[in-house]
Amino acid sequence: MQKSNDRKFVSALIAFIVLIFPILSFGQKINDGMGSRLPHPVDVRKAVSSFNSGKIENTDTAFVKEYLLSAIPNLRGADFSVEYLEGKQSKTGFHYLYRQNYQGKPIYRGTVKINLDKSGNIISLFDNTYHIVETPAGKFPDTDDCYDIIKSIYQEENDIVKIFIEDLYFDLGPRLIPASRIELWDKKGNFFELVINDEQMIVYERDMNNYFNNNRVHDVDTPALARVFNPDPLTTAGVTYGTPYEDASDADISQLNMQRQQVTIDVAFENDTFKLESLYCLINNHSIPDIVPVTSLTPDFQFTRSQDGFEDVNAFYHINVYHDYIQSLGFNNIVDYPILVDAHGMGGADNSNFSSTPSPRLTFGEGGVDDAEDADVIIHEYGHAISYSAAPSTNQGIERTALDEAIGDYFAASYSKSINSFNWEKIFSWDGHNEFWNGRVVESSKHYPEDLQSNLYKDAEIWSSTMMQIMDAIGREAADEILIEAMYNLATNITMNDAACLLLQSAQSFNSAQHVYTVSYFLDQRGFSGCGIGIHENNTGNTDVRLINSIGFAEGSSSAELRFNSPQTGIAELIDVTGRIIFSESFSGSLEYKISPKNLSSGIYLTNVTTQNFSSSYKLMKW
Ligand SMILES: [Zn+2]
Repeated sequence: MQKSNDRKFVSALIAFIVLIFPILSFGQKINDGMGSRLPHPVDVRKAVSSFNSGKIENTDTAFVKEYLLSAIPNLRGADFSVEYLEGKQSKTGFHYLYRQNYQGKPIYRGTVKINLDKSGNIISLFDNTYHIVETPAGKFPDTDDCYDIIKSIYQEENDIVKIFIEDLYFDLGPRLIPASRIELWDKKGNFFELVINDEQMIVYERDMNNYFNNNRVHDVDTPALARVFNPDPLTTAGVTYGTPYEDASDADISQLNMQRQQVTIDVAFENDTFKLESLYCLINNHSIPDIVPVTSLTPDFQFTRSQDGFEDVNAFYHINVYHDYIQSLGFNNIVDYPILVDAHGMGGADNSNFSSTPSPRLTFGEGGVDDAEDADVIIHEYGHAISYSAAPSTNQGIERTALDEAIGDYFAASYSKSINSFNWEKIFSWDGHNEFWNGRVVESSKHYPEDLQSNLYKDAEIWSSTMMQIMDAIGREAADEILIEAMYNLATNITMNDAACLLLQSAQSFNSAQHVYTVSYFLDQRGFSGCGIGIHENNTGNTDVRLINSIGFAEGSSSAELRFNSPQTGIAELIDVTGRIIFSESFSGSLEYKISPKNLSSGIYLTNVTTQNFSSSYKLMKW
């Protein structure tokens, strides 16, 4: 009885969720025609971005707050205040998120994200604050109105775990209104927010990204034998989906079971039982169907694919391997807690998700091919957790959310390709590209911005395909170090072009900036522009001389250099766009020639160098 009531409630709630969350990360599986909706004004609003815009003497959050109050026009005046929300430290600097308040109440998504290097130089700043001239008209909704709305969603009060209500100002497009924001978290793990106006109307809905840390840890790791798909049975068999390589309702097809590989996993040993728990992953049961995580009395977790333990082990293995990989790159505060993983969830749907609340968790459905049988699905969802960890509370806005999908797709594809490159361009190779859904690709020729479709899954291909090109050119570790460092800088409502600038800035920080040209090249080819993208240090074919640090020159922070392979004697000159010679200088027996950006106005310049061996020209830009 209890159960059947519960079921009815679940289906009502799922209908509600589907209704209000058509574009959320509940589904990485969106085929053509899905994933689009008319975006709300708060989602299409663009952050005002600036790069390399100055320096703050002290990186302490209180100092930074004072800086923001004086530097950002929308924060000036007695009605405004600023509140510190989040902070992260990355390899190269600090990343702070602040909120704009008006007359003591928050403005919904009125935030500033500021990224500093360790010396306090402002690497980037993303301003989402609002300009308010007159007090928004109307009054704040009554708390009773909020509860009426909640009751219309949840007939059973017991199903609600947490309700949070706050008054704030909300952007309706042309104007701000007083509104109430409601956070709802229920027993099924749904966590979402509603914004209502004074007329009891829901004006906005979204899933929520907050998390409370989970303190369950253990300290005994024991090696155990396990069997996994690595990354998936089609890739290792070198075949495409079709008999006998098909789901067959999760049956023990011998050809599929033969694709399992034996691996060693570190598991926990507690009270005479081996459990799939590590410092960074905890197999859990937080979502229906109610399947208890597999445990073992011996250090042996070898299952066939029809057994529930197989998906538990598969998810556990790939998440731990991926976390170890991120740590090996030197990132020590990314998903630095045991993420909860339910390999049999989503009410049996052909779907998976990441949720930051009530504690960060991954949930994999079993419709079609079991999602946790495919490393691409596991790592895509884990990618959302990585992104949330690097830049909490910033996955909002139409291009920003597409970027999060793209990062997950890229992580999945690059991971799979590093294991086995068969059909690498297909992601969700086993879970998708079959009778159940189409999967996605990371080898798209889509160009920015004209191929944007306001569809986060289709738009994601622009970024994931670019990252795959960069990875192929400079290697996976170098590409991932640059990307993950850039991810700390992400902010609400940024464009993919802003993210491209962050990626290029990040490239300058590692490996003596040797990958800047390559990263710039692929971003430029894809249609991204500004912030030094497309300034080509095109040294191909010339072995006598190389131009380096044209980015530093563009920023005005350091000299561009012409580096010679052997001592050269000759003359270098700099010419502006009108053909005027800015200077002409000779040098003798030199291995390099430096061109300082000092005292030069913004614009395009040409440098010509002529020596006893060669004559070359390069374009330079000063911002
Ligand atoms: Zn996703």
